[in-house]
Amino acid sequence: AVEVGGGDKEVVREYFNGTGFKRWKKIYGDTDDVNTVQLDIRLGHSKTVENVIKMLTDDKDGGRTLRGVTVCDAGCGTGSLTIPLAKEGAVVSASDISASMVSEAERQVREALADDAGGELVMPQFQVGDLESLEGKFDTVVCLDVLIHYPQSKADAMIAHLASLAERRLVLSFAPKTLYYDLLKRVGELFPGPSKATRAYLHAEKDVERALEKVGWRIRKRGLITTQFYFAKLIEAVPAA
Ligand code: SAM
Repeated sequence: AVEVGGGDKEVVREYFNGTGFKRWKKIYGDTDDVNTVQLDIRLGHSKTVENVIKMLTDDKDGGRTLRGVTVCDAGCGTGSLTIPLAKEGAVVSASDISASMVSEAERQVREALADDAGGELVMPQFQVGDLESLEGKFDTVVCLDVLIHYPQSKADAMIAHLASLAERRLVLSFAPKTLYYDLLKRVGELFPGPSKATRAYLHAEKDVERALEKVGWRIRKRGLITTQFYFAKLIEAVPAA
């Protein structure tokens, strides 16, 4: 495993076991007790999940289905992607640095399983742990909206590690670093609100691309998901050779 140490990770773990857990569970949930910004982020994020499912079941890719395909959902959160993947028949290994997130994801899967009359859902395997400690080989590795917790200096190692676990493809989403968003973020740092518990890192697409190229991968598909307050660049990478 690659060691990406530093205090950042401890702060992130604590945040996602505490206030961050409550905040994101609400955003990723379906209850009405969200404000306009949270509702907008919920919408943006659900679009990302939808796009990933579309990407992974794309007909142009030989009309594949996800039945029996091994997928690693790295940094699974409350299971927003794990559940639709499992419903498609994928064999999902889901993990997160936050134990609270993992138990919430497990709870939601059990709920989905109870509603799954046709019995199509394949029970995912859950694990509490950081991305760096992930081991094994998977057809597909997906890591959504986690890079925001990694500065670019650590993101390279993280991307390389995730690519080493993937046999066929790696799907990543991240907050794009453009002059405009960079500026927004800086302004945000000048006026930190109460929810600004962890640092957020934006990434330039070319930096992510360079990190992939360094380990022999290339970007095959790119997408951009934006709402008013949610911005995500979505990429699918495959081995270059
Ligand atoms: N991927 C999920 C989704 O899209 O619904 C969750 C996204 S949420 C914004 C970020 C998640 O990444 C949190 O659940 C957090 O605990 C997890 N996370 C942050 N740093 C991590 C790390 N180093 N290893 C594993 N998980 C991490």
